[in-house]
Amino acid sequence: MNILLVEDEDALAAYVEKGLRENGHHVEYAGRGDSGLEMASGGNYDLMIVDRMLPGLDGLTLVKTLRDQGKHCPVLILSNLGGLDDRVEGLNAGADDYLPKPFAFAELLARVNALLRRPPLSQEPQLLKLGDLELDRIRRKVTRAGAAITLQPREFALLEYLLLHQDQVITRTMLLAGVWNFHFNPKTHIVETHMSRLRSKVGSDLIHTVRGSGYTVRAPNADA
Ligand code: CA
Repeated sequence: MNILLVEDEDALAAYVEKGLRENGHHVEYAGRGDSGLEMASGGNYDLMIVDRMLPGLDGLTLVKTLRDQGKHCPVLILSNLGGLDDRVEGLNAGADDYLPKPFAFAELLARVNALLRRPPLSQEPQLLKLGDLELDRIRRKVTRAGAAITLQPREFALLEYLLLHQDQVITRTMLLAGVWNFHFNPKTHIVETHMSRLRSKVGSDLIHTVRGSGYTVRAPNADA
């Protein structure tokens, strides 16, 4: 795969680049945010790895600018700022994943591979709808009857998954795998907790519990 790496720490960039090449990827490199944006705007990459703090242009502005240009290439942000707020800010800027430094190369590679396995957004609908609810997958915005709804990244991912699987029963196992990437039962109420928060934000008339099976979504007037 064709990966663009934008990172100003030479040693780290060389280490990441070498590892990705050894795993069969083609890597192009920029050491500044502005040159990275230029390459990304003009090029066709399968994935970008972008450091947050960069000379020329910071990583988040780079990602926002790319999204505004309509570029949907998956972006993994690297950052020394690993706090929850920083991660949320990164994801809200349009990044697909966020990896705090320092990291093990194995973890970077696992996340890169997970992002590359996702079908490109361009082949899927960008706007998901259910009744008067709309989810914009590119701008990462949700509205109901035109009013903006603020969701945490995991709630957004959960809603996105539900909307992509309308008209079917969505099991807890599907949600754990599809939204959390858990292929085991974490023995917690993680799904129920997030579902309850999501319902309280988008309205409880859209997400229905199917007793003993899971969940299903349908528009309030689509019962017939
Ligand atoms: Ca940096």
